[in-house]
Amino acid sequence: MTFSHTECQRCLYPASHPLGLVIDDEGICSGCRIHEEKDTLDWEARWSRLRDIVQPYRVTDGRTHDCIVPVTGGNDSYFIVHAVKNLLGLNPLLVTYNKYYNTPLGIWNLANLRRQFDCDILVQNVNPVSVRNITRTTLRELGSIYWHCIAGQTVFPVQTAITHGIPLIIWGAHQGLEQVGMFSHEHEAEMTRRYRKDHDLMGHEADDLLSTFDTLSEDDIWQYRYPDDASLSSVGVRGIYLGNFMRWDPKAQHELMMERYSYRTARFARTFDCYDHVDCYNFMDLHDHIKYLKHGYAKVTDHASREIRHGRMTREQARQLVAHHERQPVRYQQQWLSWLGMDANALRFVLDQHRHPDLFEQTEPGQWRRRAQPADTGTPRELPEAGFRATSTLANGEADRYVVIGKGYP
Ligand SMILES: [Zn+2]
Repeated sequence: MTFSHTECQRCLYPASHPLGLVIDDEGICSGCRIHEEKDTLDWEARWSRLRDIVQPYRVTDGRTHDCIVPVTGGNDSYFIVHAVKNLLGLNPLLVTYNKYYNTPLGIWNLANLRRQFDCDILVQNVNPVSVRNITRTTLRELGSIYWHCIAGQTVFPVQTAITHGIPLIIWGAHQGLEQVGMFSHEHEAEMTRRYRKDHDLMGHEADDLLSTFDTLSEDDIWQYRYPDDASLSSVGVRGIYLGNFMRWDPKAQHELMMERYSYRTARFARTFDCYDHVDCYNFMDLHDHIKYLKHGYAKVTDHASREIRHGRMTREQARQLVAHHERQPVRYQQQWLSWLGMDANALRFVLDQHRHPDLFEQTEPGQWRRRAQPADTGTPRELPEAGFRATSTLANGEADRYVVIGKGYP
């Protein structure tokens, strides 16, 4: 993919956004255009539409769960469970994939979630040898340390739908809609194998890893295999997104959850958003640095673009925050290297192979320079206040170590 410096005149997304972005004649991107629907749609009518959709799934035959809700100890998990259980009146079975990069704070949040909402939960712990094998391969071949996390988070709920005979899965927002306006809210896009493969998994499903790379075996990948169409249709599995039916606003939603259910938050070096991925040491750290090398922008641009669209940040403030945060050094790399059994030089060598060639040039062996960037306003003496509150810290009283298996409190 060729990098384009053309960017949206409203948010900060480049035209070369990996999910695909269309910039119109006025210079406004498809993500910003679809965002405008948040202020024009009749959300009460959308919500009653959702109530109609879930109605047939309410269990009346004595089984206990009406639907499946995938959760983590971060992101929008509290709000999704709140909406499903308290607002829709459904009884969800929660499912979570253990990504092993857990922060103590994420473990605490997950334990508190179970307690506050009084829900059953299934935890998938894939054997750590296979997880490491897969991660070595996806790092080398795809430049990703996160393939197994995303594959696990997106497949385990679907597998559970089949094994437990619970057809309805309820997700939060659709990333393709929220970021780049891939669909209108009114399209009511649902979960598909195709989107998962193309966008979540960078074109590589579990079996593709097996056939393309000779370093993995059936034993490593079978737990990440998406169920076949016959199984999906025999149960009638369907995954819907709440964001199509309610005015999705992660900042406001998290703040409500902090106030009502003690969701805990933490500050990161590489973004101003303290709410999003507090359950993981890598998502906003090493994984985010890799995103920057591959695509030329980091998660802070996603956060800033979202805040501009919601009218809480000017473009200028957003630019200053992005310029500051995307250059912050990776802090938790050593934990990841120890977990995988790799050394820092080997990691640097692999990551250099995955740098976007239009964005970075090697000036001498091992020394890289970013080519021309969009106008750099420099970091001001004082950063704009983004208005996100940290109520805790990532390590939350413990050492900066992965909690590979953790039950939280009490
Ligand atoms: Zn835009």
